[in-house]
Amino acid sequence: MSNRLRESRARLVAAAVALAILLAVVLVAGLGPGVIVGGDNSGPSVESVSGETIVTISYTDAAGTAQTATVSGVDPALSNPEHDWAIVDRSSLPSALQAVDDGPAHDVVGFGERALVGATETATVPIDGTTLTVVVPAGRGVDPDRKVGFVEAFAGPYSLSGDTDSVVLVSVPDTFPNRGLMYADDRGYVTTESFWDGDAHSVWIHEYIHARQDFRTADSMTWFREASARYLSQRFMQEQYDGVTKSDVRAALAGRSENTDVTLANRTTWAGTNSHYHAGARLLAAIDAEIRAASEGKHTLVDVFRAMNAEDKPVTVERFVELVERRTESDQSWISDAIEGDRPIPERYE
Ligand SMILES: [Zn+2]
Repeated sequence: MSNRLRESRARLVAAAVALAILLAVVLVAGLGPGVIVGGDNSGPSVESVSGETIVTISYTDAAGTAQTATVSGVDPALSNPEHDWAIVDRSSLPSALQAVDDGPAHDVVGFGERALVGATETATVPIDGTTLTVVVPAGRGVDPDRKVGFVEAFAGPYSLSGDTDSVVLVSVPDTFPNRGLMYADDRGYVTTESFWDGDAHSVWIHEYIHARQDFRTADSMTWFREASARYLSQRFMQEQYDGVTKSDVRAALAGRSENTDVTLANRTTWAGTNSHYHAGARLLAAIDAEIRAASEGKHTLVDVFRAMNAEDKPVTVERFVELVERRTESDQSWISDAIEGDRPIPERYE
């Protein structure tokens, strides 16, 4: 090495050191006292996940120390040593891993009572004032980019409002009890691999809509949760996706009309069944048609959904009808009769 080279390298090092000091000063000044620079991303990261019913998780803790945890009694359908992941009960994890269930950054994604630990593929999109992240265990053959892209394209055009910080959907094997489920913290799962159910509905959109339901309901409006997720999923698909036509939605709504003898306001008439999904979706289709007709297309049921999200108190039947009447500017008392079972639910989808 020549002297000249050594000299220029020394100068370069000195410049780099000066720059680093300057940067540190700027960062510390900007962040104020008590903030550890570079500490934001510290925390455990999972190195490997092995085993099927007895799962061993190797991870590096926040201090940088290698650790292992063993979880027994894991459903072998929910572990995949080949692809380095397992879905386990959250409570079975060491506290260091339980504490960072906030997302893929730490290789632990909590949802409900469970956590997906290990290798995943994820995609995030901004959507209607929030973000949607889809998390897929490695090697599962579901493309998270396509899933977030579909939800963004089909549900993104509708302003549902509420104060949802972020929505997380985890793609899981179909040994889970439902095709999809959304928990109160706006994290849920979907077992269906395809985006479109093939009729008029999408479980992916259905669960996304649940995450946007920030309203509370009186007992007599409980049915609205499932009914609006089901109906709006069909509506959004029909309006945004060529594969679903109006007659597909009409057929889907009418297809379950055997479930007409439930009283939506009376939970005991449908508890433990899916009747409120179907009877409720039929009623919402008729209400949406009325709103569109009366407002000459200026308003839709989405405006009512958004208004419900802005309410402070649980929404009663009476309040729901008022919110509809605000858009139709006409008497809609037939709606409370239909909810309370005093008149049949009309078949109408426009
Ligand atoms: Zn649902």
